[in-house]
Parts: sequence; C-alpha cells; structure tokens
Amino acid sequence: MFEPPLDPATNMPGQNEEQRLRALYEQELLDTAPESEFDEAVSVAAAICGAASAVVNLLDRDRQWFKARTGIDYDQTPRNGALCNHLIGTDDLLVIPDAIADPRFMSNPFVVGEPGIRFYAAMPLNTREGFTLGSLCVMDREPRVLNAGQQDALRALGRQVAAQIELRSSLHKLRDRVAEKDRAERDLRERNRLFSAFMDHSPAIGFIKDASGRFIYYNKLFCERFAVSQTEWIGKSVFDLFPPEFATAYHENDLAVLTSGVPKVIEETSPGPDGSIMYWRSHKFRVETEDGTCLLGGLSLDVSSEQEAVSRLRKLHADLTAANVELAELSTTDALTGLSNRRALDERLSRQLQATTSAAFILLDLDHFKALNDTYGHPFGDSVLQTTARLLKSACRAPDCVARMGGEEFAILLVNADGNRAMEIAERLRQTVEQHPWTERPVTASFGVTLCSPSKSVTQTLAEADQALYQAKAAGRNRVCSFDSPVAS
Ligand code: GH3
Ligand code: MG
Ligand code: MG
Repeated sequence: MFEPPLDPATNMPGQNEEQRLRALYEQELLDTAPESEFDEAVSVAAAICGAASAVVNLLDRDRQWFKARTGIDYDQTPRNGALCNHLIGTDDLLVIPDAIADPRFMSNPFVVGEPGIRFYAAMPLNTREGFTLGSLCVMDREPRVLNAGQQDALRALGRQVAAQIELRSSLHKLRDRVAEKDRAERDLRERNRLFSAFMDHSPAIGFIKDASGRFIYYNKLFCERFAVSQTEWIGKSVFDLFPPEFATAYHENDLAVLTSGVPKVIEETSPGPDGSIMYWRSHKFRVETEDGTCLLGGLSLDVSSEQEAVSRLRKLHADLTAANVELAELSTTDALTGLSNRRALDERLSRQLQATTSAAFILLDLDHFKALNDTYGHPFGDSVLQTTARLLKSACRAPDCVARMGGEEFAILLVNADGNRAMEIAERLRQTVEQHPWTERPVTASFGVTLCSPSKSVTQTLAEADQALYQAKAAGRNRVCSFDSPVAS
C-alpha cells in the first residue's frame, strides 16, 4: 500500500489522501477510453521538450494510471516509486534534468531499473480546491535541460490539461444536474398526473382555495356539478360565483377552518342548476405549503338525495303522527255526533272514580225513538241524535264529559257536582231537549242520575244510572230519576 509523502515543512502528509482520492474519483476519469484532448497534450508536451515520452497520469490509491501516453507501451504502474508522488501538494513545474544526480531519485526503481528515467519534468494537475490528481510529465532516458520557454510552455500545457479535467468535471456535474432536474420534473409530472387521476375519480367534489378564498384547484366532478371548465373559476372567489347568502356561509366556514387549523365536517347548500337546492357534506381542512402559506382544502359529498330521503321520511313521520292522532281521536269519538264514545267515557269515568273530587254520572235515553225512526226515517233519526248531542254539549262545561253510549243513549260525567247539583243539571238538560223546536215532532228524553265515588266501579256506576233511568222510563218517560233518592221528579 502506497504511503503518501509527508509535507516537509510540517512532517505531516501534504494532503489528506482520502480527500484527494475522493476528488480524483469524482472526476470519473480513471480507466476511461483515450480522448483526443489528452492525447494531443502529451504529444505536444513531448515535442516541446524533445523528450521520448510523455504521460497524463492519475494517482490512484495503489497505482498510477495513464489517461494519455506517448512513447510508453503500458498504461499503469504501481504507485510505489512513481516519481509523480513528489508533486502531491505542489503547484509548480518540477524539473529533474538528471535523476541519477538527484538525491531524491538516485535510488528510485524507475531510475535505476526500467524504464531507466534520467530526465523528468512534470506539472501537477490540481483541482480548483488544490488536490493533486496526477501530472502531465515528460521523461527521457537521457539527461536533458529545459530552457525557460520550454518550462513556461510545459507549465501552460499542464494548466490546460488541469482546466480540461475541471471542464470535464463541470460538464459531468452539469449533466448530472440536468438529469436530476429531468427526473424531478418527471416525478412532478407523474405526481400531478396521479393527483389528478385520484381526484378525478373522487366521488366528492374537491377543491383548494387560497387564504383569500380564491380557487386554485378543483376536480372533474366539481366541473360537472357547477357546469364549468377546468380553468373558468380558477382565481375567482365564491363571492364572484355564488349568491351572497351562499358565498357568505362558505366564506365563514372556510375562515373558521383556516384560522383554527381544525378540520371540520359541515353541512352546506348550493343553488342547483335548475333552481333547486343541492345539499353537501363538506370535509374542510387546512393545508400548508412549504413556504408556510395556508390553503383551504375541501371534499364535499353530494347528499341531496340523502337529504330528500330525510325530508320524505320526515313528511312520512308527520303524516303518520297526524294519522295516529286521527286514529286516537276516532277510537275515542263517536262518528255520528262527534261526542266521546263509550270507550272514552269508560276511561274518563274510571279515572274520575279514583279521584277524590265530587262528581255525578247521568245516563239519558231518547223516548220512543224507534217510533220516530220508523215514522220519519233513519236519516231524520240521525239528525235528532246530532242535535241532541249539540244541545247536551253546549249545556255542559268544558271539564264535563258528554258521550254517546250507543243508539239513542247518552251519558254525562259532571265534575265538581254533588247530588242536588246533578239533579238540577239533569233537569235543565231534560227541559232543553223537550223545549228544542224540533221540526217534525217533539222529542223528549228520560234521565238516570247517580253519584260517583271511589268505592264504586265503572260497572256499578253505570248500573246505578241505568237503574235510575229505567225508573224514569217506567214512571212515564221525559223525567229525571236519581239512584240515591229513587223518586221520579
Ligand atoms: P224507549 O222510550 O223505551 O227508549 O223506546 P225506544 O223506541 O226509544 O227504544 P228502543 O230500544 O225500542 O229503540 C231504540 C231505537 O233507536 C232502535 C233503533 O232503530 C234506533 N237507533 C239506534 N241507533 C240508531 C242510529 O244510530 N240512528 C238512528 N236513526 N236510529 C238508531
Ligand atoms: Mg229510547
Ligand atoms: Mg235505548
């Protein structure tokens, strides 16, 4: 292994060998094919000096390799003993007129053995940073003296070769940079192509806006949904493109995401092409460029059909609720008279019987209604039932419950009424029915009254009232009887 010479001034290696080798390898010159620039330089060098041989050599780790040579049959020798080692770290021409007479070289194997060098002149080939890569040297088996002109010419030629190497290196670097730039551009184009392909297959409209709200990108679906070209809206803000109420909403949503940096999912709307409203579920997020500029990214899914389904469902639900209310009403209402029906009355009565407030229960039945029906017809009978219902209802207070029990039988639950009050009201109702200006013939009703009590069941209360009513019928009809004081009035 070759040991680089020490710097005589410092007794240290003249140049960091590893760095020097790195500089050499960067040139990518070793083992390359002959090149005319270098071949011509060695020919000219030999000719200037009138020497038998000349080389451009490069000092590799363990060998010197000749990039160009004339008068020499081989293209490398071991590094050890190479005369050029003495040039490392120098920057001027070295001339040895007779190596045998020079203590530095008199025992050199290349001097005492083959090729028997006597004359040697070399100009180091230094990089701009000062690393010695090799030399341009001329040699002869005869001692020789160079005059000043020859020396200057050899210096100039050496510098030319070094410049040539430098130029070559710059060209390499330039070529590498161009290749790198091409590669980067190709990469960028590919990334752009992939991004576009990706975004254009997105089921969401995608867009990027700058911090002032101007579009700098939008995808294919966006173009389709808003019927715009790929460039038409670039550089424009939502205020240029949408009615103010929509634009303001977008702007506020964008601003909230841009200032907080927190991604948001926002329900948004836009005017549809046919004047309808489109519904969007927008995923908005902040992205930052390399130089720290904030941009607003958005992916909005068209949820119009989902929204429509929700609206339909809401309407369906509302209809269903209304139908349920109607059904509930129907199930508790008598269709002919609009009064509560038997079922509703039973419930009210049951609740009332559990309460501590006083209440009375009246049952009434139209007299000789069958005859009326038979004589004037069923429709007339119906109208009498409806009129009776209206008369009873308007004579009672809101908290009371007036019900049709079935046929021509009605019931009234009187709240806050004791026995006397109940009898009074029943009597007043009787008179109301009797005194009504019936068109075809007089109509009367018989009444049975009983008191409500927590000790009584619904069945018992009904039975008592029915019993009192029976008494009223038996006593000649068109009268009121009380279960508690069973004397017909
Ligand atoms: P009473 O004085 O003893 O009560 O004799 P009434 O004829 O009223 O009693 P009855 O029970 O014999 O007849 C009741 C009639 O009421 C029989 C039926 O034709 C009639 N009726 C029952 N429901 C309806 C109805 O919804 N509309 C009409 N028009 N008539 C009905
Ligand atoms: Mg009857
Ligand atoms: Mg009856």
